[in-house]
Amino acid sequence: MKRLLVWLAALALLVTAQGALVHVHANELEAAAVRFAALPVGVDPAAAAVRAGLFDAAFQPLDGDALSFAQGAARWYRLRLAADWRKHSAPLLVIHNARFQPVALYAPGAGRVQVQHHAQSGRDARFSRRALVFELPRDLRATQSMYLRVPGAAKRTPFSARVYPEEAYHVDDTGWVRVMVFFESVQFTMILVGLTLWLALRDRLYGFFVGYLVPQFAYLLIASGDLYLLPGGHWLEPLGIRALWFVAALSTPFALSFIIEFCEMRRIAPHVARALSWLRWPWAVLAVTALLPMAWHARNSLQPDVGNVLFLLCALAAIVAVIVAWRRGSVAAGVFLLAWIPQSIFTALRALQLLLQLSLPGWLEFGLPAALALSSLVLTLGLGLSTLQARRERDDARNEAQRDPLTGLHNRRALMARIAEALTEARQRHLPLSLIFLDLDHFKAINDRHGHLIGDACLRILAERVQSELRPGDTLARWGGEEFVVLLPATALGEAAQIGERIRRRVEADPFIASGVAVAITVSLGLSGHTRAAIESPEQLIEQADAALYRAKAAGRNRLIVHPVFAATS
Ligand code: GH3
Ligand code: MG
Ligand code: MG
Repeated sequence: MKRLLVWLAALALLVTAQGALVHVHANELEAAAVRFAALPVGVDPAAAAVRAGLFDAAFQPLDGDALSFAQGAARWYRLRLAADWRKHSAPLLVIHNARFQPVALYAPGAGRVQVQHHAQSGRDARFSRRALVFELPRDLRATQSMYLRVPGAAKRTPFSARVYPEEAYHVDDTGWVRVMVFFESVQFTMILVGLTLWLALRDRLYGFFVGYLVPQFAYLLIASGDLYLLPGGHWLEPLGIRALWFVAALSTPFALSFIIEFCEMRRIAPHVARALSWLRWPWAVLAVTALLPMAWHARNSLQPDVGNVLFLLCALAAIVAVIVAWRRGSVAAGVFLLAWIPQSIFTALRALQLLLQLSLPGWLEFGLPAALALSSLVLTLGLGLSTLQARRERDDARNEAQRDPLTGLHNRRALMARIAEALTEARQRHLPLSLIFLDLDHFKAINDRHGHLIGDACLRILAERVQSELRPGDTLARWGGEEFVVLLPATALGEAAQIGERIRRRVEADPFIASGVAVAITVSLGLSGHTRAAIESPEQLIEQADAALYRAKAAGRNRLIVHPVFAATS
């Protein structure tokens, strides 16, 4: 866990440092002073009349530069420079936060009206889609008027109009593009990683991960306008803001599905999982209505509001669910919280900024894409962890199937596999191989006298004592009952007999202390092995050692007997 945190901290640092690095401002962008005036809301004369200056008396000067789309009504603004334009670089009118609204500019000179909006295809490729950018005449004078007409909106929303020298704006804009592309690439890379792992591992969790990231990524691309620059992007133009609503409506149910899978909600908190699955359905409705014609939305200006309320509800439910899963021990849920908290904070701050109509500071503008990029990185790490955990569980289960529960030694099945491997190796490398079959003497009597529990304890003590006489490469296994097998790879008769004798003496030396009862125990051992007289199979090896053990029993127990074939060929 500690290492994970270090990793996360390093990732966060790396991403933010990179983001900061690419966001190097060559110069602070300074807007030219502009005097703003507006026609009263509801006054929407013909453009030709406004342009001719017939309404100039009706324009009321504004104090600052607080422009906005009015609720349900078009609005006219008049802009005049405070001083004649004397810079060598041409002036640009830059409109921020117009979102998807078409803004019309009537600039001085012979030019026609220029209309721009966010989703528009064929826009001037020199500028990013961070803002709407209009070129103004180089010789713009303070006495000349520019008129802006903005359409009505579902509710009053602020936007800004600034005049910058083209060169300076270009530098600033390029910086913005660098940062956005950096964060978008991080997200895109994580999507590719998710897709690749999905194909390679066939783990559907990665599919849900991709499903979680793609709508968020699409949202980012639409908001930044980069999606419209891709081939086929112009197909989205008629949808306008509805494209954004659509991917927003898709992103929440996909996020909920991912949370359910990633945090193993169905196993950890089935009721919560069911509630979250139900919360996905309203989004299907919203996704469909998002695609309805704009006229429908104009009559029912509900979409964003219903969407926002439902989003808050889902976010709250999801947070509670993830915390529940986390408290119940899901590491994945903890990782998800880590990934999600920065993202939610920035989403909330952005919503607050829009709500309070504050200006958008740089750290907030990049905060959300940065948090999204970071979150996708953290989640990829989390997915790696859960794959690791699944592999560990599988290994544990596999291990369990090979162990004897009483002594923790290898069981018969694991032993046979070991012998087969060891035999193959012995044959290939022309090495000897020894095997000892070991049986407790008169163990039935011990059980009868002290009870089965003490008998069990004796078996465990025996396992420990025998193990302590073995070398790292040797294998001790429980054959069954009170019978054990010792496999000694690369060991010839002489050494094997010594080891067997050591085991016998070690068992005999001190009584076994089980639950405070001292039990004297001895063992009989049968030794066989593989030499020149090739052993055919693991079974044959066991059989010979067992036969030697039988002789040891018959000869009076507490002794080691070597199988005659092994003795003769060694
Ligand atoms: P011998 O010296 O001829 O091997 O005599 P023995 O009594 O050890 O052999 P026998 O095969 O007659 O009995 C084996 C006994 O081992 C029977 C059973 O009570 C005991 N035994 C087998 N498995 C377990 C076990 O898992 N726990 C305990 N406590 N006893 C076991
Ligand atoms: Mg026995
Ligand atoms: Mg026995």
